[in-house]
Amino acid sequence: VTTPASASGQSAFTAAPAASTDLGNVGLTGTSIKHRTTEAHPPADPFIGRQLKPMPRFASSELTELAMTIQRDILDANPNVAWSDIAELDDAKNLLREAVVMPVKYPQLFQGIVRPWKGTLLFGPPGTGKTMLAKALATECRSTFFNISASSIVSKWRGDSEKLVRMLFELAAHYAPSTIFIDELDSLMSSRASDGSEHEGSRRMKTELLVQMDGLQHRPNGEVVFVLAASNVPWDLDAAMLRRLEKRVLVGLPSLSARRQLLSRLLHDHVDEKTFDFDSVAAKTEGLSGADIDILCREAMMRPIRALIHKLEHEKVLSTTPLTRPKVQTEDAIASVACTKSSGSSVPLTKYTQWESQFGSGM
Ligand code: ADP
Repeated sequence: VTTPASASGQSAFTAAPAASTDLGNVGLTGTSIKHRTTEAHPPADPFIGRQLKPMPRFASSELTELAMTIQRDILDANPNVAWSDIAELDDAKNLLREAVVMPVKYPQLFQGIVRPWKGTLLFGPPGTGKTMLAKALATECRSTFFNISASSIVSKWRGDSEKLVRMLFELAAHYAPSTIFIDELDSLMSSRASDGSEHEGSRRMKTELLVQMDGLQHRPNGEVVFVLAASNVPWDLDAAMLRRLEKRVLVGLPSLSARRQLLSRLLHDHVDEKTFDFDSVAAKTEGLSGADIDILCREAMMRPIRALIHKLEHEKVLSTTPLTRPKVQTEDAIASVACTKSSGSSVPLTKYTQWESQFGSGM
């Protein structure tokens, strides 16, 4: 995931903004964990560089080590994504704000029948901004962000994954308010795995995850922890898990205007804005995700550089003047479209919209 514009001090897009929901500073004193700042640009978010309170004490060194691993690999103390960094996806933004941010901001209004949702699922093709949305949510809620890839739990934690899940929720409560983002949930909670062939450890871990999610609404100290999950294949998800992910939000491929925004954000420093034809490049990128457009722009930037290097090498010119990076032309971008394959799965978009009409949560 590339660093969004807000991390470099610029806000790229105008979109459904929101007043910040300050849930109180988790920062007391203690260890400072992972910061994503760039030296050249002072951080836009005053929360950057906050300190987390000290880690809880555990009964054994094994548990302490597990907690430290989670803090090192999974905890991102500074997600620092603004809603405005994300091109369009207004429905998803509004739905998330209503489902997660508002219950936290106005808890009195959401007690009893209108209780907050247990968990939220972001589904859609890969590279469309699901992780960015989760980070924007965590940023707005000033929550500690735990970013876990389900496939890495499966591969790295096999035997210990049940303990890892328990510890993850324990730390999330300790550093509350927290957001736990589980990417690629399907690799963990696939209904296909329940055919009896499943490894005992992985069955226990799944059960633990369900138990922990059920426990979120009854935490003795009322700590706020919300779970967001993402999947590219929501139809593969286990029914028990799906029941707990009460809100399901489609994050689709970018529209023409979103693609234009993305191109303009990524290329504006590298083109002559007066002559570069953003509209025709955007029109040619239908079917590409935001992540694909990122790759396309990098390729477009490389083309004139490659041509210049070739010229210098060929002519064996030893330049005495400093080299300047050549501007990207419209043709560079159009040529790059042709060699940028959609990284999306072969799943047709209609499959997502059909699933959405059956299981999704519209506004
Ligand atoms: P996902 O979690 O859906 O696979 P990510 O949120 O990790 O996708 O997005 C991957 C990258 O693609 C981002 O870092 C960003 O550069 C770009 N991107 C995708 N969608 C958007 C969007 N709607 N607005 C801005 N950037 C986007």
